[in-house]
Amino acid sequence: MPIPYGKQWVSDEDVASVAASLQDDWITMGPRVDQFESDIARLAGTRGAVAVTSGTAALHAAYAGIGVGHGDEVITTPLTFVATASTAVMRGASVTFADVEPDTGNIDPESVRALMSPKTRVVSAVDFAGHPAELDLLLPIAHDSGAVLLEDAAHSIGSDYREKPVGSIADVTTFSFFPTKNVTTGEGGAVVARDEGILERTRRFRSHGLVRDSALQRYPDEGAWHQEVHEFGLNYRLPDILCALGISQLRRIHEFKERRQTIFDRYVAGLQDVEGITLPAHRPYVSPMWHLFPIRVQDGRRREVFDRLRSQGIIVQVNYIPAYWHPVFEDLGYRRGMCPNAEEYYREEISLPMFASLTDSDQDVVIDAVRTAVGA
Ligand SMILES: *Cc1c(COP(=O)(O)O)cnc(C)c1O
Repeated sequence: MPIPYGKQWVSDEDVASVAASLQDDWITMGPRVDQFESDIARLAGTRGAVAVTSGTAALHAAYAGIGVGHGDEVITTPLTFVATASTAVMRGASVTFADVEPDTGNIDPESVRALMSPKTRVVSAVDFAGHPAELDLLLPIAHDSGAVLLEDAAHSIGSDYREKPVGSIADVTTFSFFPTKNVTTGEGGAVVARDEGILERTRRFRSHGLVRDSALQRYPDEGAWHQEVHEFGLNYRLPDILCALGISQLRRIHEFKERRQTIFDRYVAGLQDVEGITLPAHRPYVSPMWHLFPIRVQDGRRREVFDRLRSQGIIVQVNYIPAYWHPVFEDLGYRRGMCPNAEEYYREEISLPMFASLTDSDQDVVIDAVRTAVGA
């Protein structure tokens, strides 16, 4: 059986939760959405959350909620899934890439500081592999220029930064519930924000931009059926069926985190003496919920090691091709060489299998295969 790099862990309780939701009056826009949102808000240490259909939708809706548009600039990291940047471009913003710290792969605050301009509307950090970015340094850099700090926490729901949960620190935080992420709803995502106005605009964007509160309508006397669109939105609503899975998954998030930590520690114990690879960095003041186990293969041997592992049924992954290497950015004039640390990280990176239901014996197979492939 091939061993994937990431995978969901669905329990009998999860199945029962989804089955029960299917027999309710509401299979979308119902009470389970409210419950899932309040569960996320509690975990993230915020007052509210907006559940959406994916991590990509979360980013798109968050940029809309912040009011990002033409003439605005968004600074982000190239070491991310393309959606962190593409959703800002789709709002009409221009995207600038800051380089990353060479060890964590997270956006480098000093690189961000050097790129800040009066047009900068948002700084978007990513918690690579689940390890939070330097939020305490990024916040004042963003705020001093009147910009918003957005944290793409697709990897890091359940992580803490200086004793505070991810979600409670940045101005706006987005999550993904894709099956490989820390908790899943199949497809899904969420936005949390400290500012009620941003959260409300995000909520409205999720549902076509509809204004239902008559106190806010331009024509409030039209009739009880009346709703208005003031700004265009989309349908990014997460149905109750999937919220039922999310509610159930969140009950086990502490168990998931512990298991991921155990797997992380076993990898370190099994690989720390191997020459020619670098293991992931870990700042002492963060408590990551490890989403990935990124190793770095030195001496230009990444592809060879990757191919060997894949040929043995170990479905490793590479995270990530620098976002501006995508032809769509290349065609916009972005050139290779712009962020050397990110490019170096990419050239060496391999993500080993890391998921809560990975068995010790499968992990031992991976450890042995890595040792052999690298030649330890
Ligand atoms: C997965 C991911 C996304 C997109 O989430 P989807 O739910 O797949 O749309 C965005 N950013 C990062 C860093 C991700 O890992």
